[in-house]
Order: sequence, then structure tokens, then C-alpha cells
Amino acid sequence: NLAKEKEREFYLYSKEVAKQFEVGLIVREQLPSAIEKGQLYLLYQPIVSTRDVRVRELEALVRWNHPELGNIPPSLFISVAERTGDIVRLGEWILRKAVRECSELIKRNPVGISINLSAKQLKEDEFLEIIEAVVSEYGIPTGRIQFEITERELVEATAENINILVKLKDKGFSIAIDDFGTGYSSLSYLTKFPIDTLKIDMEIIRSMEENLRNVDLVAAIIEMAHTLGMDVIAEGVETEKEFQTLRLLRCDFVQGYYFSPPAKLEELRAMLSL
Ligand code: C2E
Ligand code: MG
Ligand code: MG
Ligand code: MG
Repeated sequence: NLAKEKEREFYLYSKEVAKQFEVGLIVREQLPSAIEKGQLYLLYQPIVSTRDVRVRELEALVRWNHPELGNIPPSLFISVAERTGDIVRLGEWILRKAVRECSELIKRNPVGISINLSAKQLKEDEFLEIIEAVVSEYGIPTGRIQFEITERELVEATAENINILVKLKDKGFSIAIDDFGTGYSSLSYLTKFPIDTLKIDMEIIRSMEENLRNVDLVAAIIEMAHTLGMDVIAEGVETEKEFQTLRLLRCDFVQGYYFSPPAKLEELRAMLSL
């Protein structure tokens, strides 16, 4: 009976693998044309100050609505795009789209946008030229644009990647470290890069509920970041309790379903009267 169960487990497992493989292939083949076909769009999630509950910025999060597969999560297609190299073109599209869609809002309100970058995009100086061109075309101060790069990618960053980050910083853009605290024991990189903001990963935020020691951990992270002159954003804040705890710990900003899920820009504009 156990053997049978194992067999069934394996059957289900291999079906799952086959399905993922198939999805991987579809993503690989169809992502390049998905942009032209208008299947990609951006949602935005507010990042809110714990002091006055005002929106500081909107994080752009890409979505792919595939005609047959439905919504393909970015966690899936971004990693594929990073492997195939499509991320460079995709990233450029995201940047242009976000700046174009938000430029009016940015000019009328003291609000910025936050854009996720992959290390692969920090390869060529061409990327810098594109960013500068887009920003000047829409007349947006560079200080209103924050770029997020994950801790994982920062740790593995090349000299060229770092060089481009330094140049972005010199031009006045802000740099945030995304998903902080997810599996890297070395902290020395924190002083090697020009980082303005540290985003604590939601796994750590969630862990506060399980164990009071984890609240101490979050407190220590916030204190460390402040000592290094960085602002802190807590990711994935879902409850009033988490929000209040983070406020007491002097976390600067929160982002999460508690305040708002990622939403269409028009909805946010109405909701937040931006
Ligand atoms: P991320 O940059 O850390 O984005 C935060 C993710 O957490 C988003 O998932 C968001 O929808 C989700 N989230 C926000 N608040 C909550 C909450 O309260 N609870 C829970 N459970 N989840 C919450 P999403 O949109 O699926 O994006 C996943 C990841 O894909 C992003 O993680 C980012 O690494 C990547 N990604 C998304 N858009 C882009 C993009 O335009 N460019 C690049 N390079 N990567 C992107
Ligand atoms: Mg992010
Ligand atoms: Mg994150
Ligand atoms: Mg994440």
C-alpha cells in the first residue's frame, strides 16, 4: 500500500513537473511578443509613512494576462526573462510605462515611484542613458524615482553592476534593497553600496507573530538601518497589529495588504485622491 501511495505521489509529482516545464516553455516563447500584444500591464502598491499614514511612493509591479493561461505571476516570468535575457527589453518597457503613467501624478503630489530592477539590467551604460532620457522627457526630478534591487542580487553583484548603481545614485535616484533578510549572513555589503532604503522581507515581518524574539530581530534591523542612514520599509504588512508594532519600532514606512494590495493606478488615484 505504501508502495502504491509512493507511486501515486510520484505520478502527481511528475505531472506537476511536466506542467511547470510546459508553462516555462510557453513563457519563454511568448514573453517577447506579449509586450506588443498588450498583455502586460502595471499595478501599483502604495508605500505608506507610519508617522502620518501618507503615501510616499507607489511600487510598480508587472502583470501578464495571458489569453489561455490567465494571470502568470511575475515570480515565474521574471526569472525566465532573466535567464533568456528578455529582462532587458522588458525592464525598459516597465520603466517607460511607469514613468509615463505616473508622471502627472508625480508632478501634482509629493509622491514618487519605485521600480524593481534585475541585476541583468545593470549591465550596460545604455540603461543609464535610457533612464535619463525617459526622466527628462517627462520632466521628473530623479529624486522621485527609487530603484529596488534584491539582497540576493546585490550580494552577487559584479563590479559593473555596482558601477551603475553608483552612477544612478550620483544622478539623484534612490536605491532600495528589496527582500532584506532572506538568507544572507554577510552584512558587509550594506556599506559597499549606495543604499538609501532597506525593505524588510515579509517573511520576517510575519515571523513577529510566532515569537517575541523575532520582534527584537526586526527592532535590531531597523536600528541598524537607521544607524547606517537608511530608511526602512516593512513589506507584506497585513494586520493592524503588525502595523502598530512596526510604528512603535520606528519603522519609517509600511507596504502591504493592510493598507492596499497592488491596484490599478486609476483606482489608487481615486482612493488616495492623488
Ligand atoms: P517584490 O518586489 O518584493 O514585491 C512584493 C510582492 O509582495 C508583490 O508580489 C506583492 O503583490 C506582494 N505583496 C504585497 N503586499 C503583500 C501582503 O501584504 N501580503 C502578501 N502575501 N503579499 C504581498 P508580486 O507582484 O507577485 O511580485 C513578486 C516579485 O516579482 C516582486 O517581489 C519582484 O521581485 C518581482 N517583480 C514584480 N514586478 C517586477 C518588475 O517590474 N521588474 C522586476 N525586475 N521584478 C518584478
Ligand atoms: Mg520590490
Ligand atoms: Mg520585496
Ligand atoms: Mg519579494
